[in-house]
Amino acid sequence: MLLKDKVAIVTGAASARGLGRATAKLFAEQGAKVVIADLDEQASIEAANALPGEGHLGVAINVADEAQVQAAKEKILAKYGRIDVLVNNAGITQPLKVMDIKGGNYDAVLDVSLRGTLLMSQAVIPTMRAQKSGSIVCISSVSAQRGGGIFGGPHYSAAKAGVLGLAKAMARELGIDGIRVNCITPGLIQTDITQGKLSDEQKANIIAGIPLNRLGDAVDIARAALFLASDLASYSTGITLDVNGGMHI
Ligand code: NAD
Repeated sequence: MLLKDKVAIVTGAASARGLGRATAKLFAEQGAKVVIADLDEQASIEAANALPGEGHLGVAINVADEAQVQAAKEKILAKYGRIDVLVNNAGITQPLKVMDIKGGNYDAVLDVSLRGTLLMSQAVIPTMRAQKSGSIVCISSVSAQRGGGIFGGPHYSAAKAGVLGLAKAMARELGIDGIRVNCITPGLIQTDITQGKLSDEQKANIIAGIPLNRLGDAVDIARAALFLASDLASYSTGITLDVNGGMHI
């Protein structure tokens, strides 16, 4: 059990086929008490109740809203008294071209991925500092490294590239406190974000450009998150794991 009795928050983990849900499930299988933190309270509670094992929690949160983030943190600390792992997974995409991005689009995408990652991290850092240990895993994207592609949009690439910079800066600052901060850059993973939005031809073209010759599964990302969250990665901070079948090459 790699996360026995650890308390792990996974944001955006209510979506049934999503990367967050797969990560929450694998963490629970590895002994963690998991907090599912997503927009809808009922969906978060149901997702938490469906996890293997006992003692999980579902909370409603908009990660971009500081008051909601703080309220959720208080609830989590009241139940568990500690926080060992945070996975900053919540994110939204908008398939827009650069000239189609308007003010509201920009704010919406940047708010969830980038502001959300900052606010959630700020919420857990004091507790992790007091514990002198903690692991923060940030879900960026291969589109941070090579541009958006059909799903993300340039503002999504910018938000996810911002996550890479923010994570490295936090890793540099927080190592002294025993807190590790690392990123994953998923490639194209089959989830609700991608489901039904690709024609067979588009799918074949994308797969032809992936060295491992397939789209990713949510569990591919969950395994990487488990590595970074656990002591298996005890000497790694500020790293980026490219879990994308080789798309970054
Ligand atoms: P998904 O749409 O299945 O799940 C995203 C979840 O985030 C949803 O449950 C949604 O309710 C939640 N969410 C949205 N806004 C929120 C907010 N303000 N506060 C809290 N929760 C919020 O998406 P997914 O494919 O599982 O993506 C998960 C993460 O992985 C995202 O950050 C995404 O950008 C990233 N990613 C996905 C892919 C892919 O191919 N699926 C590739 C690279 C990166």
